[in-house]
Amino acid sequence: MQQVESFDLVLFGGSGDLALRKLLPALYSRHVAGDLPAHGRIIGVARQEQTREQFVAQVKEHCILNIEKGLFSETLFNVFAKRLEYLRVDAGIASDFSALADFLKDSAAKVRVFYLSTAPDLFTSICENLSVANLIHSNSRVVLEKPLGRDLASAQEINARVGSVFDESQIYRIDHYLGKEPVQNLMALRFGNALFEPLWSRSWVRDVQITIAERVGVEKRGDFYDRAGAMRDMVQNHLLQLLCIIAMEPPSSIDPDAVRDEKLKVLRGLVPMTAETVRGSTVRGQYRAGAIDGQPVISYVQEEGISSSSNTETFVALKAEINNWRWSGVPFYLRTGKRLQDRVAEIVINFRNVPHSIFPPPKGGIQGNRLIIQLQPEEELKLYLMAKEPGNEMQLKPVSLNLDFSEQFKQRPMDAYERLLMDVIRGKLTLFMRRDELDAAWRWVEPILDAWNSSDEKPKSYTAGSWGPAAASALLAREGSSWPEES
Ligand code: NAP
Repeated sequence: MQQVESFDLVLFGGSGDLALRKLLPALYSRHVAGDLPAHGRIIGVARQEQTREQFVAQVKEHCILNIEKGLFSETLFNVFAKRLEYLRVDAGIASDFSALADFLKDSAAKVRVFYLSTAPDLFTSICENLSVANLIHSNSRVVLEKPLGRDLASAQEINARVGSVFDESQIYRIDHYLGKEPVQNLMALRFGNALFEPLWSRSWVRDVQITIAERVGVEKRGDFYDRAGAMRDMVQNHLLQLLCIIAMEPPSSIDPDAVRDEKLKVLRGLVPMTAETVRGSTVRGQYRAGAIDGQPVISYVQEEGISSSSNTETFVALKAEINNWRWSGVPFYLRTGKRLQDRVAEIVINFRNVPHSIFPPPKGGIQGNRLIIQLQPEEELKLYLMAKEPGNEMQLKPVSLNLDFSEQFKQRPMDAYERLLMDVIRGKLTLFMRRDELDAAWRWVEPILDAWNSSDEKPKSYTAGSWGPAAASALLAREGSSWPEES
């Protein structure tokens, strides 16, 4: 791959969990792959006092921990480390930005990236202080981590204030699920093949299921999570973005606005929820104590940073519908949760059954075709077809065609953050959310949050290590469907 242009990447929150666990290892991996040019500096910024050497040692420790086995090399890291700098800046104090201005003053970099890997309540002061310090030029970009705001009004305020100093074309609202290889492949599958598109509608699709299940609890993010919950943390962004990629009309090109226009139409086409549909079409849950892999797990309300009377949801399952010709009447089931039985992120497209079968009914009946796009733990694509079992009888059985990307292409798949970071430096906005998409997502999610807030009903309790409350299975069973682990 071609090297990106020369850059300075200022990483606000450079000593935080996301930066150390994901972003810096991703940059190291692109360095090893040869994507970073000679002038490509990474400046970690946070309030904590530490020397450059201490920062480098921290980055090294996390690269060793977080990079796949065999890919870390002491020699290569020592070269990568020359790109690293650390500055102490309090994002809320304008005068602190003069240290950053001094550092960047004579830079030869063509592109300047400000990656805001901090709590979202710092986004606006960081942008305004960058502007006051005269650090934003026409080739500057800002990357905003999710979640952006906690409701429509707060998201709009952040967007307006960031938008007053950065042009929309300079703003990269990141959703790392869009950077995952199988999500790109879903687009390739749909728009690079004639095979699927004629079937990709209410005529042949029975339902769509999107699951992002985690085994982990709130880890060290208890305080943040208790204020957010699964709806804001996962549904408003990742799950709705995946839904958009599945449901959008073919864009006229892969250009950012062509793709984002189509995603926006999907979000605007989502049937708005009312208090009544929220009751019937959504399930929120909270985990109680249980066990995962035989290890006891405490309940959500016993976790650090969580109030003992918390009603925050750690699980959501819901049925969404899209009001348009292609999808009218097709349920899109979305599900996410913490402390579930398995760590899995996948999209399942269930196709309708054949209208008439000429074969003896197989055990379990003829099954409709099923396409599974797995994002986690493995990145793969499986298509289930009915095939004849060897032998005299015309007995059918579902078999799967597997596309294992690493096996097919004999290449290590790029981590989502690696791709997205390179896209930012290259100025490619296709995989980032536009402001109106974010507004539309909040507009759809907000009535659900409001209905939950004003209801006396508490989140349904589920055992840690299970697949969530029984009501989540009942949501699909009512329409003759089931989640993948139940079929
Ligand atoms: P974190 O571990 O709490 O790190 C926050 C970072 O911000 C630290 O480096 C902290 O260092 C710095 N910081 C805090 N206040 C500051 C200030 N006033 N000025 C300058 N720096 C300041 O948080 P995180 O988990 O990395 O998350 C960062 C962002 O990414 C959040 O918006 C989060 O929602 C999002 N995100 C995180 C993950 C994840 O897996 N962690 C996943 C998706 C999205 P000092 O305290 O030294 O200043």
